[in-house]
Amino acid sequence: MEIKAVRGFNDLLPNEIGKWQFVEETAREVFEGFGFSEIRIPILERTELFSRGIGEATDIVEKEMYTFTDRSGNSLTLRPEATASMARAYLEHQLYTFDPVAKLYCIGPMFRYERPQKGRYRQFYQIDAEVFGVENPMVDAEVIVMLIHFLKRVGLEKLELQINSLGCHACRPRYREELKKFLTQKSFQLCEDCQRRLQTNPLRIFDCKVETCQEAIANAPKVTDFICPECQKHFDKVKEHLETAGLTYILNPRMVRGLDYYTRTAFEVVSYQLGSQNAVTGGGRYDNLFQEIGGLEIPGIGFAIGMERLVSLLPKDKEFVQTPYLFIAALGEGPLKEAYRIVNQLHLQGIRAELDYEGKSLKSQMRRADKFKAQYVLILGDEELKQGKAVLRNMETKFQEEIPIPNLVNILKEKVRRQE
Ligand code: AMP
Repeated sequence: MEIKAVRGFNDLLPNEIGKWQFVEETAREVFEGFGFSEIRIPILERTELFSRGIGEATDIVEKEMYTFTDRSGNSLTLRPEATASMARAYLEHQLYTFDPVAKLYCIGPMFRYERPQKGRYRQFYQIDAEVFGVENPMVDAEVIVMLIHFLKRVGLEKLELQINSLGCHACRPRYREELKKFLTQKSFQLCEDCQRRLQTNPLRIFDCKVETCQEAIANAPKVTDFICPECQKHFDKVKEHLETAGLTYILNPRMVRGLDYYTRTAFEVVSYQLGSQNAVTGGGRYDNLFQEIGGLEIPGIGFAIGMERLVSLLPKDKEFVQTPYLFIAALGEGPLKEAYRIVNQLHLQGIRAELDYEGKSLKSQMRRADKFKAQYVLILGDEELKQGKAVLRNMETKFQEEIPIPNLVNILKEKVRRQE
């Protein structure tokens, strides 16, 4: 029986990989320009990093983690997100001793046992950026500016930035109580999951897609009416800095984000092209995460961009597929041997070239060159080889010229350079 990939786990095939490479290269360029450095963290962590960091009463920890016991009896989990791991690495390697402020980014796969649908997978890729060690609202605005700049650089349009403040651990408990009181009166309208959430984590009810739950929560009190003066001041400053940077935003008091560790600033960038899974990026401030995972009192802020969703929004007219620059059509044994020598030389010079190893008929080799969309074809037969020449055909203009074989690599290098 043919073995298929696991449900919710996707292959990224060569015909789409160009888009992914473009997004990743642009992210590296933009983020590094903003002073961020790459960090690579393991895919597996101890389960408690996530259960304590993200919070026991969240969907991720309750039902979405890929957790297993290894052969030594340790409970390990495939990372469902990167922030907790990045915070762990910052503490474990005492990056704060070099400088208290760390600006880090990371690109890689995450794993959540969710119901697969368009835009929602069990293995998905995120680009994460985090700043550790700064409480100042300037940095909240700075990461949002970087995010929007990046999304525009890759060609996204019609995006909406939504922001909210979730308060802090001093003022949020009062809001939770108010929300709980309000929803208890409407508990008959809540789905089974939300009945449970009402006891464990009532803020999660905002994220429920069930219609009756949405109705129940429609007129609920707003978190921003309960935040303390300190949180209010912080939020006002974030808005002021965003305005100074010329960014427009929408206040969304219902956006609470699915992870427990968020405090104060929360934000999402949504695209209305995407259907129901419309968030491309989620992020926020988490001033208590470090303490939850057993560390020091260190503030943090960051975001995660969903790469599948981002790639699906890239401009359709942009060409991302890499095609060979040159196809060599060799006719006969002697020419094939020479073609093989030439193709190796070209590869060493970084010129993308292809060869038909079987030396089939000219017609079938030209068909392959067409299929590959090669810019040039080099035709090499016994006659040409005897004269030390080859025919170079420009596939677009159909112009053909004879080139002395010893000059070939230099001539092609020149043509590639002119094209760039
Ligand atoms: P979160 O880590 O839940 O805040 O999500 C951040 C971003 O990751 C979202 O805005 C999505 O673009 C993306 N994302 C989250 N979960 C999934 C998933 N299961 N499949 C695909 N993308 C996801």
